[in-house]
Amino acid sequence: MSILSKFDQLARTAERLGPADANPLRVTFDRIISSTEGVVNGRNTMLFGTNNYLGLTFDPDAIEASVSAVRRFGTGTTGSRVANGSYSGHRDLELDLAAFFGRKHGMVFSTGYQANLSMLSTLAGHGDYLILDSDSHASIYDGARLGHAEVIRFRHNDPADLRKRLNRIKDAPGSKLVVVEGIYSMLGDSSPLAEIAAIKREMGAYLLVDEAHSMGVLGAQGRGLAEQAGVEADVDFIVGTFSKSLGSVGGFCVSDMDGFDILRLACRPYVFTASLPPAVIASTQQSLRRLRDDASLRTRLRDNANQLYDGLRALGFHVGPQASPIVSVEVDNADLAVRFWNALLQGGLYVNLALPPATPTSKPLLRTSISAAHTPRQIDAAISLFAQVGVEMGVVSASQMRVPLVA
Ligand code: PMP
Repeated sequence: MSILSKFDQLARTAERLGPADANPLRVTFDRIISSTEGVVNGRNTMLFGTNNYLGLTFDPDAIEASVSAVRRFGTGTTGSRVANGSYSGHRDLELDLAAFFGRKHGMVFSTGYQANLSMLSTLAGHGDYLILDSDSHASIYDGARLGHAEVIRFRHNDPADLRKRLNRIKDAPGSKLVVVEGIYSMLGDSSPLAEIAAIKREMGAYLLVDEAHSMGVLGAQGRGLAEQAGVEADVDFIVGTFSKSLGSVGGFCVSDMDGFDILRLACRPYVFTASLPPAVIASTQQSLRRLRDDASLRTRLRDNANQLYDGLRALGFHVGPQASPIVSVEVDNADLAVRFWNALLQGGLYVNLALPPATPTSKPLLRTSISAAHTPRQIDAAISLFAQVGVEMGVVSASQMRVPLVA
């Protein structure tokens, strides 16, 4: 027995997924050519699994801002903002984020994961309640585990269940914090936020929305689901990440809550970790500007999402409930999913593989994410490859397709 023996089962599962060059959990990109193309196992590959929704990782202005920041401020901050001080860029980015969301306060974290760890573990303490959608991201669950509040789960996207659960604790003295996501990362579905906001208001709870996958995607100005649903005033805390539409790494929270700044001393995952390096802060600031000023990115993203979603659905694939930049195809079992994933990769298409229990429906998912930078041609090619592999593996049948199989 070794200290790692408890992971034997996990190790066997990982091994069954195949050797390193064919294992979906070990994929390595030899080179990245652009925000939509890379090289895997020496082969040119279309990237359809990046979360790079606006395609800004190669934005020339963002790259320039990043390079210039390295030259002026160095490669890293080498410390925590509380213990070792902030750089002006951290403060400026917080002001920019607060202004973009129309909020008084902004706080930047080293990852989106840490933003959720911080907010969930700190906002709700002893005697308080966290009421989480059951499909919440791991960072939300982990934040709940790190804190001392009582955790209550409600059925995914079910406002009636949320109301029932809040009703049971309505006379309890503690604060109640409801947590939902703008777009859920596995199936691309959105929270019924207008109904959830109404319940939150009626029951006197607080509401935190994680807009990780919806910032830059939803809303006329790209502020996310709360903007699209017209309920920003009901959202007490917005959490988000820089690792998706902003093309870098990091996380944030914005709020109008008086006294918000005390969280800088209270959030352990903020206090006890190093702050983001200047290059990341600078490219994020530039990409936020682009996100704010260039609405055509969102229009293109929406068109691309519709093209991929409609295309895969018409072929007979089992996709999520609504078109969004996350389009996931459900398949019956893990063996089939791994073979399908490998056939796509060999055909020059990279997507994500998500396996239960990380999936909401206990079925494996071939998860794609689309970008404003994909061309209609790339999307057509991806759909064609899905069709070809889907027919070969018996996941869809050529005779039932609502579109002809294109070469
Ligand atoms: N929230 C959600 C909903 C996410 O999907 C993710 C990452 N996929 C995170 C938070 C964490 O973000 P990051 O990758 O910046 O740590």
